[in-house]
Amino acid sequence: MIDAIFLDRDGTLNVERADYVKSIDELVLLPGALDALGMLSTLAVPIILITNQSVIGRGIIERATMDAIHDHLRALVHAHGGRLDAIYVCPHHPDAHCQCRKPQPGLLLAAAADFQLDLTRCIFVGDSLTDYAAAQAAGCQSILVRTGRQMQQLDELADRDPRVILKNDLRAVAAWLMAQKLTDVEGVALQPAAR
Ligand SMILES: [Mg+2]
Ligand SMILES: [Zn+2]
Repeated sequence: MIDAIFLDRDGTLNVERADYVKSIDELVLLPGALDALGMLSTLAVPIILITNQSVIGRGIIERATMDAIHDHLRALVHAHGGRLDAIYVCPHHPDAHCQCRKPQPGLLLAAAADFQLDLTRCIFVGDSLTDYAAAQAAGCQSILVRTGRQMQQLDELADRDPRVILKNDLRAVAAWLMAQKLTDVEGVALQPAAR
């Protein structure tokens, strides 16, 4: 059985912006993302957002603004029949060299402690090599989506490593997960990468 599903935010749930999501208006969800969360929410496991938001550490927005963006996101998800059980944010500037900014696994470790999770039975869905690296560092199964800015790098990674599970978007991930027998996360991990 899977213990939890971790999700990256920018490029996985919503459109990534080079100038950061700084307001509710700038949070534009990717096509199918709400459907995907609705599907995933039928699984009896926590769904946990794991996101780097250096926009705070860079002094571009306040923590309160981020919280308002996340309240709005949760409301959208709830209105669509889904849930986000927790949101873990690294607010630090990259120069702070904290232990929580992905590719460090700190946020995953914190969530595991809070929710009593076995990280080897957790799935982390993200759109970037840093998500992949954080998942590897924490011992999670990584699933990658081609909705961010690193599609080419992810294609190359999947070519090198046949264990990498790469899907076009979060809806495809959700549909695929729903079709698996989720009795054993290793059964998920052993599926070949469908492209
Ligand atoms: Mg991302
Ligand atoms: Zn941090």
